Amino acid sequence: MVSNDPAYAKAYYEKNKKRIANLMKQKVHCDVCDKEVTKHNYPRHKTSSAHMNIIKEQQQEKFQKEALLEAVDRAVAKALKKAKKM
Ligand SMILES: [Zn+2]
Repeated sequence: MVSNDPAYAKAYYEKNKKRIANLMKQKVHCDVCDKEVTKHNYPRHKTSSAHMNIIKEQQQEKFQKEALLEAVDRAVAKALKKAKKM
């Protein structure tokens, strides 16, 4: 097999056109956006602004939740310390 021979590539494409087209049309589910994306477009979709914005929002929510949990933890620890002293 000669991988960078244009004639070979063309022949391969002509021979496998339908199979390649079907592979490209296959849908992949994006768990982040809860959307169906073609397999062919998935790498590009992963860098799209719509996808990235959702990831950013999720990260911010996660940070906020973690900060809140940490604050609750500290408050509980403080209360326990106070209760032990009494
Ligand atoms: Zn996505």
